[in-house]
Amino acid sequence: MTARIIDGKEIAKKLRYELAQKIDKEPVHPRLAVIWAGDNEASQIYVRNKQKAAQEVGIDCELFHFDKEVAESDIIALIHRLNHDQLVHGIIVQLPLPEHLNSKNILETIQADKDVDAFKMVMTGALWQNRASWTSATPEGVLYLLKTVISDLSGMHAVVIGRSDIVGKPMSGLLLNEDCTVTITHSKTKNLPEIVKTADIVVAACGQPKMVKKEWIKAGAVVIDVGITKVDGVLYGDVDFEEVKNVAGAITPVPGGVGPMTVAMLLKNTYTAYLKQKNSL
Ligand code: NAD
Repeated sequence: MTARIIDGKEIAKKLRYELAQKIDKEPVHPRLAVIWAGDNEASQIYVRNKQKAAQEVGIDCELFHFDKEVAESDIIALIHRLNHDQLVHGIIVQLPLPEHLNSKNILETIQADKDVDAFKMVMTGALWQNRASWTSATPEGVLYLLKTVISDLSGMHAVVIGRSDIVGKPMSGLLLNEDCTVTITHSKTKNLPEIVKTADIVVAACGQPKMVKKEWIKAGAVVIDVGITKVDGVLYGDVDFEEVKNVAGAITPVPGGVGPMTVAMLLKNTYTAYLKQKNSL
């Protein structure tokens, strides 16, 4: 069997086009504030991609860049100001922040209705109670991709590899809300290959290049690869794509799978935040 390749790049492009059509009908442009500190090269690329994609769909994106010695209080003061600015609908902080800064403190300062990355504790609670207006962009993008190949996720066994606050945990919550039976695995999980082998859906988000092998995969399973690791200048996912594609029913490539969806979902969340704020005025 050769797997269907899930083209995240194309799906994200269509999503951005649809979003641009909707935003074009709005009286004002939604506005996204991006806060970034330091000079991390990967972050710089991510920030630039977000700015470019936002502009393309008609979202005004303003970058607030601090040098790497910035005081936590300066970032928090900016977030307070943006929280009160009615022209700003979404606020994100590009992670990772320089080590002396407490990311959790900073993220908690963002007002919930502008937290378009959904990293605040209250957003996590809303997700697990299935009452969220939006959730973190990467897992939401993964769910969107899954729905392009599976019409009904109900009752399927999903194995999530990774339990981070920004990918693994929200991914598991989203799949549970879709009535999947979810197994969350992580670096201390025993017999990982055997557990993965029982999955109808595998979401790999552990940052271990090419870890998931074809022997781990049940024939026909849908495999979504969130991982991105650069080794000697080459990007690798967590799944050994070349061999797993011969067993899986559908699979995402790296790059060109989940990555473009993350940005598209962030923009979608910003638009949803804009609509909610507009309707509450
Ligand atoms: P993280 O380091 O915060 O968490 C990694 C998780 O994987 C942990 O829960 C850990 O227990 C688990 N893990 C590590 N080694 C493991 C192993 N050998 N077996 C099983 N589990 C293991 O990382 P993260 O922020 O969740 O990101 C995970 C990967 O996804 C990274 O490669 C990251 O670059 C990528 N990522 C991609 C996007 C995207 O848009 N495509 C977005 C976010 C993260």
